[in-house]
Amino acid sequence: MTMSPSPGNCIFCRIVAGAARSHPVWDDPDTLAFMDLSPLSTGHVLVIPKPHWENVFDTPAPALGAVMDTAKRVAHAIRAAIAPPGLGVYQVNGRAAGQTVFHYHVHLIPRYEGISLELHGRRRADRAELDRVAERIRGGLDAPAG
Ligand SMILES: [Zn+2]
Repeated sequence: MTMSPSPGNCIFCRIVAGAARSHPVWDDPDTLAFMDLSPLSTGHVLVIPKPHWENVFDTPAPALGAVMDTAKRVAHAIRAAIAPPGLGVYQVNGRAAGQTVFHYHVHLIPRYEGISLELHGRRRADRAELDRVAERIRGGLDAPAG
């Protein structure tokens, strides 16, 4: 049994605080969306609530709603910018489910026919490439949100 990290040493809290570098695509008072550092495909984005909650069980419903509002907005932007044939929206809770950062987050992952999904890629992406992809997705934020 591993203790959950406290907000003080949580990488996502450090990103929210500006203490760790990220490649943001959306930032509002309640949520943040940024590029996954080990993307499973080009355009893999994470959406988080800014306060630290570990999982779906302890995150208040309004905060889950705020995350999904942002996820929808960014999903449209990914579609406008990258136009993948599919888009996965994934969220896992607990190590057994594949959770590796214990701050609630939703994955937005462009999907392609015949390419299988392993939820946490191990290859770190080039940061300049992440900057370029984040800029493309931010450029898609004006897409009609439907
Ligand atoms: Zn955190």
